[in-house]
Amino acid sequence: MSGFDVDIAVIGGGAAGLAAAIFARQAGAHPGASVAVLDGAAKLGAKILVSGGGRCNVTHDVVRPEDFQGPRKLIKRVLRAFDERAAAAWFESLGVRLKREETGKLFPVSDDAHTVLGALVGRCEALGVRLMTGHRVREIRRLAEGGFEMGHSRGVMTARRVVLATGGRSLPKTGSDGGGYALAKRLGHTVTATYPALAPLVLEGPMFHASLAGVSHEAEFLTFAEGKRVDQRVGSLLWTHFGVSGPVAMDASRFWTTARGEGKQARMMCSFLPGEDFERVERWLIDVATDGPRRGLINVLGERLPRRVAEVIAGQVGLEAGVAMGQLPREARRTLVHALTGLDLRVARDRGWNYAEVTAGGVPLEEVDPGTMGSRVAEGLYLVGEVLDCDGRIGGFNFQWAWSTGFVAGTAAGKS
Ligand SMILES: Cc1cc2nc3c(=O)[nH]c(=O)nc-3n(C[C@H](O)[C@H](O)[C@H](O)COP(=O)(O)OP(=O)(O)OC[C@H]3O[C@@H](n4cnc5c(N)ncnc54)[C@H](O)[C@@H]3O)c2cc1C
Repeated sequence: MSGFDVDIAVIGGGAAGLAAAIFARQAGAHPGASVAVLDGAAKLGAKILVSGGGRCNVTHDVVRPEDFQGPRKLIKRVLRAFDERAAAAWFESLGVRLKREETGKLFPVSDDAHTVLGALVGRCEALGVRLMTGHRVREIRRLAEGGFEMGHSRGVMTARRVVLATGGRSLPKTGSDGGGYALAKRLGHTVTATYPALAPLVLEGPMFHASLAGVSHEAEFLTFAEGKRVDQRVGSLLWTHFGVSGPVAMDASRFWTTARGEGKQARMMCSFLPGEDFERVERWLIDVATDGPRRGLINVLGERLPRRVAEVIAGQVGLEAGVAMGQLPREARRTLVHALTGLDLRVARDRGWNYAEVTAGGVPLEEVDPGTMGSRVAEGLYLVGEVLDCDGRIGGFNFQWAWSTGFVAGTAAGKS
């Protein structure tokens, strides 16, 4: 008898918490530690079910520390302990067959996130993990004799070890509303400022975006903070009625939200011709005008951009859609090239926590031991998943972080 209600209490039954619970039960000698998962939500896994458009992009073919924002050395250590291949093999062992899409994203072959959630919950049940939904943890304190006491919405529970898996602030209606940060602070951790990441961006009203709603194409995004470039990336851009979305905008958003949140002057630019620079694009237009002065500008731009985008960009710099290449004055051509290679996006704001897929910021990774995910501040506490200050780009990287941290913490807590 340990004298505790449970050996290991996992607070939060999302991706990271369920993984931690499974690995905690599997670690150590039989019969192993007793494990309970407390989650404030009425049903587990809401975020898993909405992820990847309902298909759950569980990981990526190739996962590198550079796919994340945070201290890369620490991230590398955690990922190495349970990498994308280990995650894929683990899912196969849970009965979830995966397929790789062209982009490198891995999905269940069922194309249904229920397969992933069902497998995780099923394994928890088979291992005898107590799944306590409707148990929101409000208070936590360390006991003088070691261990923790948690006040939850239905009473009190004591545990020898606690795994904090409460997620971040994105999609608060799923139960991940940032409440876990207060618990971490209560136990002595610091929490850095949090900002929406992987969020669509709202552009200022008079821009042309609404007329392009639904159009998608390759673009290059550059983000600047106080005039210094803090991010540059190429990917698929989706224009919407409110502004910009799609992987390139979502991935870039955290650099804009973070800079703006820190009170810095933040700026974002879009190049419609990724990899090109001003000189090369100007030279291309000059050459085309020389070879075919009667060719229409939109037809020329339409070779490299969706025609609708070409029309809007030309209109944006005050050019008639029907203008011929040979009639393009030098100044107009140069203004057009500027717009094509570096259009100022005039971002008004991000779309907020209801649309952001993850959280930038949280408990600093330096405050945990990357070999165990054990807290350096409160003995017996482990932190996993999005509650930590580490966020990945779109493509399955955030779930990989959940599985990797869940494996490391669960295994360490289960053995301890
Ligand atoms: C729309 C959307 C789509 C996404 N798609 C993908 C994708 O395809 N691939 C990918 O890699 N990532 C995706 N993500 C990101 C991914 O879902 C998260 O990074 C991941 O779920 C984080 O896991 P977590 O376990 O740390 O936190 P969460 O999944 O947020 O789980 C935290 C859990 O803790 C519970 N909780 C919080 N506070 C308390 C408390 N005080 N007491 C008890 N319980 C509490 C919550 O109810 C919740 O169940 C997506 C996110 C969103 C919003």
